[in-house]
Amino acid sequence: RWLLAALVAGLLGLFCYFALNRREGPKAELKRAMERNEFFLHYQPVLALEDLSVTGAEVLMRWRHPVQGLIAPDIFIRAAEDTGLIVELTRHLFTLLEKELAQWEGGRFKLGVNLAAEHLHDGTLTRDLLALKGRLPANIQLVAELTERQLIGEDPLVLKQLQDCRAAGIQIAIDDFGTGHSSLAYLERLPVDYLKIDKSFVSALDSGSVQAPVLEAIIQLGHRLGMELLAEGIETERQAQFLRAKGVEYGQGYFYARPMPAPTLRQWLATAGS
Ligand code: C2E
Ligand code: CA
Ligand code: CA
Ligand code: CA
Repeated sequence: RWLLAALVAGLLGLFCYFALNRREGPKAELKRAMERNEFFLHYQPVLALEDLSVTGAEVLMRWRHPVQGLIAPDIFIRAAEDTGLIVELTRHLFTLLEKELAQWEGGRFKLGVNLAAEHLHDGTLTRDLLALKGRLPANIQLVAELTERQLIGEDPLVLKQLQDCRAAGIQIAIDDFGTGHSSLAYLERLPVDYLKIDKSFVSALDSGSVQAPVLEAIIQLGHRLGMELLAEGIETERQAQFLRAKGVEYGQGYFYARPMPAPTLRQWLATAGS
């Protein structure tokens, strides 16, 4: 009889253990990963297409999971958003940036940082970015990358924060441009410095699809709105030439350089002769 009771209790305990772990799963894991310093940063160079000088880099987060190995940001950023941890993870990224770039030397360097909608909507984005700016060397120019989808909606708080950032010398880029559905009237009112053309439009150039006219329209639109353009995902010489001929100012992609750790970036910059 007591054997049965013990067995039931044991099974119940086991069940609770798994149920709890399941529920806490991704959130607890992300928190642990921050504590154990499993996230690290890669930087992908950005070049001026005109003369191929390096103007800066985009920071891209990586997660080295002790069991699963390298996890792509598309997966863990989504998990952080779903579990309400994205703002905390972004602040964690900021501390990693401060550590890695504290000794950064050289000329003006634009640093693109990907940000989450929630950070914009909870009202703390500007404050956090200004704090980061204050802790980085003065030659680093921060560029806040926000996707088109994150900016949609007529939230006065969002507009205010973007204006405050800009007034404090932080530039704003609309990421993945062309994949959302912003109205022209809305875009015109946004204080934005750069449009980042989504890589789907760039890769479409080589597959000979019908997207080239769409790409040209995007380029014209951006310029008419007074923004500079940055094409992401450039993989071939042909794509680079087309974009340059159309007046796209900046480019980023495997054709020039893959994302790399900070020490490699320093070496790369030294040999790229910038
Ligand atoms: P994204 O902001 O559009 O970043 C560009 C992505 O394109 C990066 O993928 C980059 O490695 C990749 N890429 C660059 N050049 C090429 C190319 O020539 N060809 C191809 N096929 N891909 C190229 P990654 O690093 O896997 O990041 C994916 C997405 O995850 C990013 O898209 C961004 O939305 C998000 N992400 C990455 N790091 C962060 C972060 O620190 N915070 C936030 N909130 N999101 C991040
Ligand atoms: Ca980006
Ligand atoms: Ca992008
Ligand atoms: Ca993207």
